[in-house]
Amino acid sequence: MANSKYEYVREFEQAEPLLKNTWIVVRIDGRGFHRLSTKYQFEKPNDKRALDLMNAAGAAVMNELPDLVLAYGISDEYSFVYHKDTTLFERRAAKLTSTIVSTFTSYYVFLWPQYFPDTPLLLGMMPTFDGRAVCYPTIGNLRDYLSWRQVDCHINNTYNTAFWTLILKGGMEAREAEQTLSGTNTGQKNEIMYTNGLNYNNELEIYKKGTVLYRDYELAHPIEGSSEILSSAVASTGTDTIASSLPEELSKTAQEKEKKSKRKAGVKAEHIDIIKDEFWQRRPWILS
Ligand code: ATP
Ligand code: ATP
Ligand code: MG
Ligand code: MG
Ligand code: MG
Ligand code: MG
Repeated sequence: MANSKYEYVREFEQAEPLLKNTWIVVRIDGRGFHRLSTKYQFEKPNDKRALDLMNAAGAAVMNELPDLVLAYGISDEYSFVYHKDTTLFERRAAKLTSTIVSTFTSYYVFLWPQYFPDTPLLLGMMPTFDGRAVCYPTIGNLRDYLSWRQVDCHINNTYNTAFWTLILKGGMEAREAEQTLSGTNTGQKNEIMYTNGLNYNNELEIYKKGTVLYRDYELAHPIEGSSEILSSAVASTGTDTIASSLPEELSKTAQEKEKKSKRKAGVKAEHIDIIKDEFWQRRPWILS
């Protein structure tokens, strides 16, 4: 490239590499989706089409970025987890974040008509997302982050479902519903829903648990014994040893081969508990 007298401006760019050897979480969130969901008449409290669209866009992002090991989505937000060893974009925060935001947004807009065939997108009300990147040094921290999001899903969904039950089934105004729920705990909210004709237990898991996306590696490529070895390592020495226990047991070429098949495995979506150990113990390849 030719040098010009203008080139010095590059020196104003700030270096922003994210800390090595840490799990990078990029969380994106829909901008003004409260208004957008009203405009496009999302069903309240949960529009299944909107969640399915979020999950389709999330899975597309996983397919385009093989260094992502897991994603978790609720409402208008999605958290994507880059493997701690990723060197994508030299771990530059803006690049790692903006690529996810724009890939997700492209798919969300492109796939919209499949999920909302009777509701065309309108200029002036386009879906847009913001994003941020945060580093988590240990698997414990990463799991606490994901638990935080899933607990949030539970709390928000309990409140929203109770709120809309009072309005839709109980015939209340918003203000009255709000006052009825003010200061109530989960048990009381369940009770209120029940007496208004809704059994919260029967609500869809996608509403109560959110959606976790991960690579369905073991089912596609079972490795003999390895999952047992890892599970017992997890049980005896704690989850933080997952990452280091497998690679040392395999040769360099075997590691490369495994990495490749992991990246090629299909993306699976589930609506299950990711707070308890079971999810991780049964799928040790996700964080290895
Ligand atoms: P901000 O720009 O600050 O994120 P926001 O309006 O997007 O503002 P959020 O806290 O992100 O606020 O909340 C998202 C809102 O979008 C929810 O409160 C809900 O009203 C709506 N929403 C998102 N997904 C759905 C869905 N699947 N069904 C119904 N409503 C939804
Ligand atoms: P990176 O992902 O690193 O940005 P890149 O391939 O996008 O890689 P850039 O340095 O951004 O590389 O350069 C963009 C390239 O896209 C140009 O070199 C050119 O080949 C092509 N390109 C962009 N806009 C046009 C255009 N309007 N007409 C023809 N080619 C274009
Ligand atoms: Mg926000
Ligand atoms: Mg939002
Ligand atoms: Mg949100
Ligand atoms: Mg380019």
